[in-house]
Amino acid sequence: MKKLYISADIEGTCGIAHWNETEKGHADWAYFAAQMTREVAAACEGAFDAGFDRVVVKDAHDSARNLNPMDLPRGVELIRGWAGEPFCMMAGLDKSFDGVVFTGYHDAAGRDSNPLSHTMTTSAFSVTVNGEVASELMINSMIAAYVGLPVYAVSGDLGLCEWMRSKCPGTRTVAVNRGMGAAVQSMHPQEAASAIREAVRLGASQPGQTSLYPLPDRFDVRICYREHAKAKRNSYYPGMRMTEPRTLAFEHTDFYEVLRMMQFCL
Ligand SMILES: [Zn+2]
Repeated sequence: MKKLYISADIEGTCGIAHWNETEKGHADWAYFAAQMTREVAAACEGAFDAGFDRVVVKDAHDSARNLNPMDLPRGVELIRGWAGEPFCMMAGLDKSFDGVVFTGYHDAAGRDSNPLSHTMTTSAFSVTVNGEVASELMINSMIAAYVGLPVYAVSGDLGLCEWMRSKCPGTRTVAVNRGMGAAVQSMHPQEAASAIREAVRLGASQPGQTSLYPLPDRFDVRICYREHAKAKRNSYYPGMRMTEPRTLAFEHTDFYEVLRMMQFCL
């Protein structure tokens, strides 16, 4: 039996340009939650086109209660809410899966390719791993590699897609949005869904072309917070060092300990 894991966010959903559109309960949210669902459903169909039997989807945005289960195809299981475990946006991932897909993902805090760029929380200016600006896609691709799984396909903004191709050239990417300051230029929402379905179909049917995300031996994580008080509080996490009033450093060789730290400090 072939199983695909999908982690779905909203800030890289086709057309999204403002925080109001990400907030459950806001009048602007419903359309983008529906488009997020459409893109996830397309990714699921792509996996079924490639001969997959089962898809597990993690709703990984904010409340984690954005996707409409009725609009996902049969054969899909949905994880809603937060399990509280360090895998976070990848909760439930294990070796029983064959590969991973990300939909609706967005570029990292500090990058200008998406009006909504951030990393895990909007309380951090920047997060770096071994000197490189870290996106949620980077952290979660590392989780996939940690479990031993390739990333078949990614959809989101153009900056994120270009970055992913530089890391894993075999991973299929669908750039549904191109950020321009506080604006985005986006594909037609139905064309975005079609392109995502095709990207997942191709990625999942040719898994040999996809390399694992490169996992370093040692992790040097730096978090620069917007508020010095938050840095002060989180500086008490075991192993954390304060390098500047707003910046903390955490070094470890065990990636799971990095994830545990992020679960508490991001
Ligand atoms: Zn999100």
